[in-house]
Amino acid sequence: RREQLSMAIYEQQLEEEHLTRLRLLADLKTALADNDGQLQMHYQPKIFSSTMQATRFEALIRWIHPQQGFVPPDLFIPFAEQAGLIGAVTDWVVEAVVIQIAQWHQQGFNAQVAINLSAKDLSRPHLLDHINRLLVQNQLPANSLSFEITESEIMRDPEEANQLLLKFRKNGFELAIDDFGTGYSSLSQLKHMPVTELKIDKSFVLQLANLENDKIIVQSTISLAHSFNLKVVAEGVEDEASLALLRSWGCDWIQGFFISKPLPAKEVLPWVNNYSQ
Ligand code: C2E
Ligand code: CA
Ligand code: CA
Ligand code: CA
Repeated sequence: RREQLSMAIYEQQLEEEHLTRLRLLADLKTALADNDGQLQMHYQPKIFSSTMQATRFEALIRWIHPQQGFVPPDLFIPFAEQAGLIGAVTDWVVEAVVIQIAQWHQQGFNAQVAINLSAKDLSRPHLLDHINRLLVQNQLPANSLSFEITESEIMRDPEEANQLLLKFRKNGFELAIDDFGTGYSSLSQLKHMPVTELKIDKSFVLQLANLENDKIIVQSTISLAHSFNLKVVAEGVEDEASLALLRSWGCDWIQGFFISKPLPAKEVLPWVNNYSQ
């Protein structure tokens, strides 16, 4: 009886999770279609390590659900991927970001913004057309955008990934491997990928100044990446000591709460002006 009871509770939980997910997906579809401000992009600065200048940003999606409030992207992006909705999300993100960059350009601010891609985006041949059309419409050069993709996403189908990434490179976009170090691939497997940048996962960086193993991993990743002619970004830099270590090891770009949290679009220019003073 007891087993039956716990089984029933378990099934009920599964059903509730399933319903929550379906509801969330339906709401996400509405949010994408209505474009009524529930979805917004935030922008986190990356600074160039040698000059400490901030001209690059990572675009991170934010969803403020009318009833549930903030829904983290770590929650709804995987749902959208499983439900075949990620293409619509990425298209929405690309459009919002390109329009924002164009607005900054008109204000005399040239930013390069990195957009996160999902594995399923790599099997959408029309994505590149969509991106190029938006750039042309807004009279922006290809180097205003770059893209981040995780190693595990690339490794799901390396052949397919390779082909599309090559097309991205031929169109002038820089490409970063995101969350580097968390997958099972080695740099020697990835060296055939047409990428320009490695982004060391924040799990190796958050405690960098305190953990000897992380120091070894990060320092050797930087030199290995450089020997492959890749630029290196460290994400998750939360303190000054870690920043100093990364700069001394020649890490090219630095990103993290110590520099800035992801900012709403309207706070970016004030932040840049204040930061560069
Ligand atoms: P990610 O691409 O690895 O993004 C980095 C995450 O780390 C972001 O979380 C960012 O806010 C957070 N972060 C940055 N600096 C620090 C730091 O110093 N300390 C700590 N503890 N965290 C830091 P966020 O915005 O919640 O995004 C989570 C994930 O959701 C992203 O991981 C990415 O995989 C996905 N995501 C976010 N926006 C998009 C999007 O527009 N499209 C797609 N496909 N995925 C997205
Ligand atoms: Ca990223
Ligand atoms: Ca990352
Ligand atoms: Ca991630």
